[in-house]
Amino acid sequence: MAEKPALKVLLCSPRGFCAGVVRAIESVERALAIYGKPVYVRHEIVHNRYVVDELRAKGAIFVEELSEVPEGDAPVVFSAHGVPRAVPVEAAQRKLFTLDATCPLVTKVHREAEIHHRRGREIVLIGHAGHPEVIGTMGQLPAGAISLVQTLAEADAFTPRDVNNLAYVTQTTLSVQDTATIVERLKQRFPAIVGPHKEDICYATTNRQEAVKLVAPTVDAMVVVGAPNSSNSQRLKEVAERAGCPRAALLQRAADIDWAMFGNIARLGVTAGASAPEVLVEEILDAFAERYTLSVETVSATEEEMFFPLPRPLREPQAAE
Ligand code: SF4
Repeated sequence: MAEKPALKVLLCSPRGFCAGVVRAIESVERALAIYGKPVYVRHEIVHNRYVVDELRAKGAIFVEELSEVPEGDAPVVFSAHGVPRAVPVEAAQRKLFTLDATCPLVTKVHREAEIHHRRGREIVLIGHAGHPEVIGTMGQLPAGAISLVQTLAEADAFTPRDVNNLAYVTQTTLSVQDTATIVERLKQRFPAIVGPHKEDICYATTNRQEAVKLVAPTVDAMVVVGAPNSSNSQRLKEVAERAGCPRAALLQRAADIDWAMFGNIARLGVTAGASAPEVLVEEILDAFAERYTLSVETVSATEEEMFFPLPRPLREPQAAE
């Protein structure tokens, strides 16, 4: 049998699950353990089909809107992306039992937007139309209070009501570089605009992009394990391409690998979006190991120690004795 060619794999660290995703998945699992089946989940709890299928097999029922949840006392979990304010209002009217797994870093952006609004400021949200986090953030305030800016061109075209009374917030999972450029343009055009000290891009998005920037220029190809509807995974692929990696692929499972793209490579970078479980990274590495003799090295941009406690009703009760 012919010897397999050598392949050096550079594994980005940090990669994969962030604290918000761990909390959201554990929220559904704990709800199933405490209250039993079914547990309803509004929207994919995190953007990963594998995770959703696993939870579905354990008894979670995924819905897009509360109207799909029948009357009763089964819990309804809100996904990590956050929900517009109208959703908990509707749930309260219907007396549904809700558990909010919105990532605390998304909730922080909601609170920032509220404060700006209370201070009479018009708000620019830098983000991507249609993403559930953007829908949730815009839905914190009345229609018209927040204007969405997706690109530099839209930052140029934006016309505020009052240039001296403006604020910005951002989606948490954007490209650090693109967002900095848009913020800079807004500040040039509207010097009085106020915003967070840094952007609202979360630590997990920032750290995963940093690790990709270290690895991507040194490899022949890059694999990002993640889902096409995962914003932070898409950004990792873009960051890899911009950092000089000639071939970058966003893959959900090993079966998605287009081997024609990965022929004749000696060095491969691997990372995973914040909603992609490590088991899928391992599955993809196993697929490469069938064709190559791998030597794996981890390249670390930073250590992560972030942890978010579960929503209060799901926390472990204090031991009685
Ligand atoms: S990517 Fe960031 S904002 Fe989104 S769930 Fe993870 S920690 Fe929270």
